[in-house]
Amino acid sequence: MKTRPIESQMATDAQHIWHPYSKMQSDSPVFHVESAQGVYLQLSNGQRLVDGMSSWWCAIHGYNHPLLNQAIQAQLEKMAHVMFGGLTHEPAIKLVEKLVEITPQPLQSVFISDSGSVAVEVAMKMAIQYWNALAQPNKQHFVSLRHGYHGDTLGAMSVCDPVNGMHSLFNSVLASQYFVDAPACRFGERCREQDLQALEQLLHRHHPQIAALILEPVVQGAGGMRFYSAEYLARARLLCDQFQVLLIADEIATGFGRSGKLFACEHASISPDIMCIGKALTGGYMSLAATLATREVSAAIDRGNPGVFMHGPTFMANPLACAVSLASIELLLASDWHSRVMYLQGRLEQLLAPCRNLSQVSEVRCLGAIGVVEMKQAVDMKSITRQFVDAGVWMRPFGKLVYLMPAYNIDDEALEFLCAAVVDIVGCQPESA
Ligand code: PMP
Repeated sequence: MKTRPIESQMATDAQHIWHPYSKMQSDSPVFHVESAQGVYLQLSNGQRLVDGMSSWWCAIHGYNHPLLNQAIQAQLEKMAHVMFGGLTHEPAIKLVEKLVEITPQPLQSVFISDSGSVAVEVAMKMAIQYWNALAQPNKQHFVSLRHGYHGDTLGAMSVCDPVNGMHSLFNSVLASQYFVDAPACRFGERCREQDLQALEQLLHRHHPQIAALILEPVVQGAGGMRFYSAEYLARARLLCDQFQVLLIADEIATGFGRSGKLFACEHASISPDIMCIGKALTGGYMSLAATLATREVSAAIDRGNPGVFMHGPTFMANPLACAVSLASIELLLASDWHSRVMYLQGRLEQLLAPCRNLSQVSEVRCLGAIGVVEMKQAVDMKSITRQFVDAGVWMRPFGKLVYLMPAYNIDDEALEFLCAAVVDIVGCQPESA
């Protein structure tokens, strides 16, 4: 393909392409990436940026990894895609075998889909079909935590934080769900009776209508980058059992080591009834997600009416994506990922500590390979992004949150450079009024 001049490409981009959460004809800058290697993004204007985002939690091994490239190339020689209705293939079988091995033991039945939001839709449909099969057709609602984020499709949106998720805009199409306040007890703290009270009361009152509690275990990501007590999660599991409500763990952001455990549910030693994974599943190479359920859930759905699970995406279990996923998981497990992620937690804490002294900052918190600088007031995203790029780093703050989630194999020099830029630029933001 002949390369077009960048200016002409950018004109087409500005004219016709929507970017995430953006105006069509936006005055926010977008940066043209030519290539990406390791933790570096090479812009077409010759600039090289240290990437602090790993493309929204995904690229845990960095970009352009030879082993991951090779897994896709080898699969491409055989087939890029075949439908999954009535057909199966080795990449899907091997991937599922691995997922069953590394996730909590009761999760044995796996539905592969194309993106995190779809994995959440699938989880919600599984929960509803499960209760329907158990002759409880009224259990069609969900409880979720305020500050939660579960995706942008309508079902997933209905369980996102109602304010951040703009429920007012879509009120007549979004299913009405139940919300409880996000846990006030923080990661590392005990969970007090009052922290569970709202959830307990809600389940007590409404459990005949509730199919499942859906939450992001331990780390609430896009809804606020909050780290909450693992004990809350353990107690929530018990409440679900007590009130006959399924537990859906959305591990789409936390899965594959990001929080310091392979899956964040392990912080609380619990097993959900249904679990969603995505993002880092393919090491950030392709869009793929999965919803895992216990045998109890899948067997009930099989027995119920209509006797099948009612979902089937066209690109289900795409062989290229399955092949690169398996390679990514094997690469992760062959590394000393846990020590690496804990090392990153320590370094992020040290390197971001100077932010604590800045008048613009209300809190700095780190967990696993996640570093969060919470500001006292929302940042001007357009200008701060430009300042980061000028400083040679790629960051994508939102609201009051300037946060990092680098690839696990980022070296000391790049991490120091990244964090120094964060400290500098955060310190240049306007003071709060
Ligand atoms: N759940 C969580 C916890 C997420 O962080 C995200 C994406 N940020 C999603 C679901 C939705 O995933 P996707 O963007 O792949 O649809």
